[in-house]
Parts: sequence; structure tokens; C-alpha cells
Amino acid sequence: MTEAGKSADRCVFCQIAAGRIPSIRVYEDDDFIAFMDIAPQTEGHFLIVAREHYERLEDMPDKILAKALPLAKKLAAAAMTGLGRSAFNLLQNNGEAAGQAVGHWHMHIIPRVEKSEIPFKPGPTADLTHLPFVAENIRLNIK
Ligand code: AMP
Ligand code: ZN
Repeated sequence: MTEAGKSADRCVFCQIAAGRIPSIRVYEDDDFIAFMDIAPQTEGHFLIVAREHYERLEDMPDKILAKALPLAKKLAAAAMTGLGRSAFNLLQNNGEAAGQAVGHWHMHIIPRVEKSEIPFKPGPTADLTHLPFVAENIRLNIK
């Protein structure tokens, strides 16, 4: 986690939400802001960010989270039309090991063009003997 994402006081996305750090905004409402990513993976890469400081998916209140996918759908559709694209990735990282650099909940909308390079590679085929145990460990912890 970067220094900037460790707590609400020092969080870069909280600062952006408060207007203390500039951003190029594409959308805002009571629960979310959306702005262009400062280091875009592709042209049109933008972020949908919770207005309040929640670090990860598990921290997000269900009430706010329920609005996140409909908003992603709406803004992705606008980006596809506006940028003349027909493909995008919706990406949401949780935890440093997953590539989360800013510890304030956000989703990426990454418009894609044919053959554009992004390193999403399939992993090796899973060891099928382990899968039932792995699945059970997940199932048993659903709350
Ligand atoms: P993640 O790795 O999922 O935490 O993604 C964090 C994203 O935030 C990266 O794509 C960064 O380029 C982007 N980012 C960091 N600081 C800023 C900023 N000040 N304005 C816009 N995007 C930012
Ligand atoms: Zn924050």
C-alpha cells in the first residue's frame, strides 16, 4: 500500500473527493466520483471511486456497493459510445498482493481496442484434486 492510501487523512482519493487534489472528473453523485486515471493503461482509462473512505470490497456497505455495478454499467456505456470503443475491462483490486496501490475502494474502467496489450494472462490449469477443498473453505466462510 502506498503512503497515500494508508488512512483517510493521507489518502489521495479522499483528497480528490474533497477537491484538494485536482482530477479530471467524468461523473459524481452522493456516493461516488469518477475521474480519469493519472497513469492510464489505455486511452479512456478512468476510475469509479467511493466518496467515503472504505479501503476494500469487504469494507464497503452493501447499500453503497449495490449502486456500484449499475454505475459502472452506465459509465462504461458512455465511454464506449463517447470513445467509439466496443470493449473494456472492469477491474477492482483488493490488497497489495492483488495490485491495490491506493487503499480507498475503486473500480477501473479500462477501454480496450483489439490487440491492445494488457498483461491479463490465464494461469496454469488448476490442480483438480485441490479444488473441492478450496471451494469448501470458501463456502464455510460465507456470512
Ligand atoms: P489500484 O492499483 O487498483 O489501487 O489503482 C490505483 C490507480 O490510481 C492507478 O491506476 C493509478 O494510476 C491511479 N491514481 C493514483 N493517483 C492518482 C491521481 N492523483 N489521480 C488519478 N489517478 C490516480
Ligand atoms: Zn480515502
